[in-house]
Amino acid sequence: MTRLFSLPKSAMTDENQEQRLRKILFNSLDAFVGVDHNGLVTEWNQQAANIFGWSYDEAIGHNLDEMIIPERFRDAHRQGMLRALESGHAELLSRRIQLEAKRKTGEEFPVEMAVTYILNAGSYEFYAFIQDISNRKVEEQKLRSLASNDTLTGIRNRSYFNANLPEAMARSKRSDKNLALMYLDIDHFKSINDSLGHEAGDSLLKEFATRLKATLREADIVSRLGGDEFTVIIEGIATLDDVSKVATNIINELNRGNWLDTPNFKITSSIGIAIYDGRVIDADKLVALADKAMYKAKHSGRNNFKILRFDDIEVTVEGKSHLKSLESFINTQHLLSIQKEAGSNFLQSTLATLRRHLDMDVAFISHIHDGVREFMFVDSKDLNPPIAVGDSGSLDDSYCQRVIDGRLPEIINDAFELPEAMSMDVTTLVPVRAHMSVPIRLSNGKLYGTFCCFSYTSDQTLNERDISIMHVFADLIAQHL
Ligand code: GH3
Ligand code: MG
Repeated sequence: MTRLFSLPKSAMTDENQEQRLRKILFNSLDAFVGVDHNGLVTEWNQQAANIFGWSYDEAIGHNLDEMIIPERFRDAHRQGMLRALESGHAELLSRRIQLEAKRKTGEEFPVEMAVTYILNAGSYEFYAFIQDISNRKVEEQKLRSLASNDTLTGIRNRSYFNANLPEAMARSKRSDKNLALMYLDIDHFKSINDSLGHEAGDSLLKEFATRLKATLREADIVSRLGGDEFTVIIEGIATLDDVSKVATNIINELNRGNWLDTPNFKITSSIGIAIYDGRVIDADKLVALADKAMYKAKHSGRNNFKILRFDDIEVTVEGKSHLKSLESFINTQHLLSIQKEAGSNFLQSTLATLRRHLDMDVAFISHIHDGVREFMFVDSKDLNPPIAVGDSGSLDDSYCQRVIDGRLPEIINDAFELPEAMSMDVTTLVPVRAHMSVPIRLSNGKLYGTFCCFSYTSDQTLNERDISIMHVFADLIAQHL
């Protein structure tokens, strides 16, 4: 069998030169492997023995494929060899290629190799320099991970989020489902940092990321944008109920307490949610909408969520085909537009008149649907009410729901005196003191929502006569919905 080092006589000055060349190759840092036209090993240096685990004696004369090529690639490898033998050309010749190889132990690992061949006495011989690139791959993976993951929490980082949101939106646009973008900001995190120290703050951020991920599906993209701000991209949303359930699960998981294994330690978060239903809106605007919703959640007492619809900012509607979205969503849109065209002026002015008559600070009409309460009409004494038309939030945490199911009375003169009311953060944060709420039932008896008003101060004068006026107006409102 001819060896590579049996160079033509003219190229050799003496036998020592071949010995020197052999020594260099034998000790090369790359594995050096030679095979004849039958695929049997003719050259096998020290490094080949090191990385593949087969000794020189085990390798020489044996079939290379069987020793170092994983079984599933063997056919492709043989075909490549055959093509090379027939044509004298092959894709893997004369360039560096990366592929999976196999050690004697069966372990697979990535290698980079450069193959060359010579024609000797009418038949081809192949020679390859091979490097074990497992470490390089691990390093590359680490770098990739550093580029896309947050170093503190290990979840995705801002640049991954920025790169992936437009792609997720494009996927959502092609599908018949919607996308929800959640924007979470931990409540009062600064004071936690100040009281417990930055290190404990860091541990809490890590635990927050872990808990957040634990309540979500594998496919949801959870990122930390920086500081105490996190985002979640949820695709495949069919109804508003879907998204409000996810948000409620997150809030419940956070409210479970026991942070840093400390029983009474509480951490909460305010969650803003923007829904993308495929109409034209760019990623930045969707983020801005989710951020706006988050601030609304902060302003209405924290530890809750708010959902904002696309039409809270200017968008161009491309066409009806994109109105594939949430059935209930469209119904709401439809309802809203009907109200706007016909009864809205009446309802808005009725609300204002009654609020003034009852001398309350804020009055509103809410619509209960898909597990959320949405404010349809709001009237307020001051210019900056804590709620706004289009806001929606968890029904569970609302006075409306608790009045409907009897946990709170229809007339509350001072919420600060009721333990049930005091169990809701909103009571002290807004604050809500005097409160009246009645259900609005449509002519078919179905619950539409509630008609409510409240004041920031207590009011001992509210009585049965006031609540019966509210009931009368609730019936009147129902006729205009
Ligand atoms: P709010 O309820 O209005 O959100 O109040 P807040 O105190 O949470 O205010 P804000 O969200 O603006 O503050 C975030 C704080 O997070 C500011 C900074 O002290 C802290 N912070 C930012 N990055 C890190 C970090 O990497 N580690 C720790 N421990 N704290 C951080
Ligand atoms: Mg915060």
